Amino acid sequence: MALKKIEESKSAPFIFYKDRLGTFKNYIYDDYSNATCTSKTLARAGFVWTGDESAMCPFCLKDLSFDPDDDPWEEHKKRGSECEFVQLGKLDDLKLTLADCISLAQSAIIMAQYKKHENSLKLLEQRTSSAALSGTVTEAMKPAKPSTTKSRRIKRSS
Ligand SMILES: [Zn+2]
Repeated sequence: MALKKIEESKSAPFIFYKDRLGTFKNYIYDDYSNATCTSKTLARAGFVWTGDESAMCPFCLKDLSFDPDDDPWEEHKKRGSECEFVQLGKLDDLKLTLADCISLAQSAIIMAQYKKHENSLKLLEQRTSSAALSGTVTEAMKPAKPSTTKSRRIKRSS
């Protein structure tokens, strides 16, 4: 679902704060007084909304469930140390260079493709293991029965 959002996004893949913030609709903790985890702090820390209290980073695809007293940036650093957004560490859009934007966009695209391939691999694994269970694979592996009649027919016709 979230992957689809990234792929179908008309703007660059959530590189900018306002685009990430725009994904949040009536975020659950925005009404809590004293909540440190809000749509604004999540969007600032690189996250887009994935439903209820969850949010995902489009650059490392960490989809996390948050508590109202979480610090989204601290959580992001803790769980996504390899993330391009975390490594850049530029929470203020005005600090982003064009090269930063390009590497963020590349990360988002590469991660989305990686996830897609991972999903199709899982599907393939499921299919082959269920095929093995039903015996279709082992059946196909058996040596073909020698069909003597066929080879005779071929000899005759040639
Ligand atoms: Zn990330």
